[in-house]
Amino acid sequence: PFNFSAGPAMLPAEVMVQAQEEFRNWNHSGISVMEISHRDRAFMDMAAAAEQDLRDLMSIPDNYRVLFMHGGGRGQFSAVPQNIAGPDATVDYLHCGIWSDFAIREAQKYVAQVNVVGATVDTPQGRAISAPETWQRSSAPAYFHYCPNETVDGIALHDIPDVGDVPLVADMSSNILSEPLDVSRFGVIYAGAQKNIGPSGFAIAIVRDDLLGRAQGNTSTIMDYTVQAKDGSMYNTPNTFAWYLSGLVFQWLKRQGGVEAIGRMNHAKANKLYEYIDQSDFYSNPVHPNYRSIMNVPFLLADNRLDGEFLQQAAAAGLVGLKGHRFVGGMRASIYNAMPMAGVDALLDFMRDFEKAKG
Ligand code: PLP
Repeated sequence: PFNFSAGPAMLPAEVMVQAQEEFRNWNHSGISVMEISHRDRAFMDMAAAAEQDLRDLMSIPDNYRVLFMHGGGRGQFSAVPQNIAGPDATVDYLHCGIWSDFAIREAQKYVAQVNVVGATVDTPQGRAISAPETWQRSSAPAYFHYCPNETVDGIALHDIPDVGDVPLVADMSSNILSEPLDVSRFGVIYAGAQKNIGPSGFAIAIVRDDLLGRAQGNTSTIMDYTVQAKDGSMYNTPNTFAWYLSGLVFQWLKRQGGVEAIGRMNHAKANKLYEYIDQSDFYSNPVHPNYRSIMNVPFLLADNRLDGEFLQQAAAAGLVGLKGHRFVGGMRASIYNAMPMAGVDALLDFMRDFEKAKG
């Protein structure tokens, strides 16, 4: 089947086959990578190679640390304020959708003031994000946080906000590695792994050096960026299997031609879907064309009483994971890096047939 789940999401077929082949005999050791000490030389070499591959793929400058963290995307919702803002600080958050909302509520536990600078707006062309000129930024925030790709809403902010010297923090859980990115514009980039990287519960944090050493005193040690940076993300036992599998995905991505090539493919996949949805009276997408995600494509049927039938028939045709998030309903096709164009084509064929039969 083609798996359109928003996450945990489809991983590259090649990677799954390789992981299966190596499952009980990793690195010619006769045992699984899950059964080896994280201090073992072979594991440490693999872990370092995975980091280097990620650095190569994202062109991460030398003054950034790459941390392999626990606790997924939401773990970082608290790690960020605890690590780079004092308890008396004000922090700025742009409210782009549902995940921004969760991040804001978590940050409120750790800092004096969370200032919401702007939010989504409904326009005649669909939902958009308020223009930077209208943002109510505070005078000296410890950082500015936003989520460039809102997984549930299918809303994306394609332009990196210009916030001057304020450290820019981005939740890239659902768009990391999806296209080229200028990492040097950011103070912190973080991502839960289960969309474009690997297994859930794992997270990557890319932290600029000058933001280390600022953690609040009561920060849990495993979530302390400075400790994890000093200990090579091995302060405690890391999720060794997730690290290994992520490393395989990074190698796969390099073989695809890196983020430039995958980015072109991702735009082509998304454009095909949006073009079809836009010309149809049977399907619609609620997002302004300039703010559409290339990873998560939500769409509605003109008659939502057909939703159940659509999902049932799609699943029977081998197209799974299309149900929209429980907060918004409708459908959502998540088309992360591992989704081939053939999957998008199969979905479009199905959507056309369904429209013909029911429209
Ligand atoms: N941020 C975004 C943009 C997400 O899409 C998600 C989850 O899907 C999260 C954060 C939360 O990630 P996790 O479930 O790993 O905590």
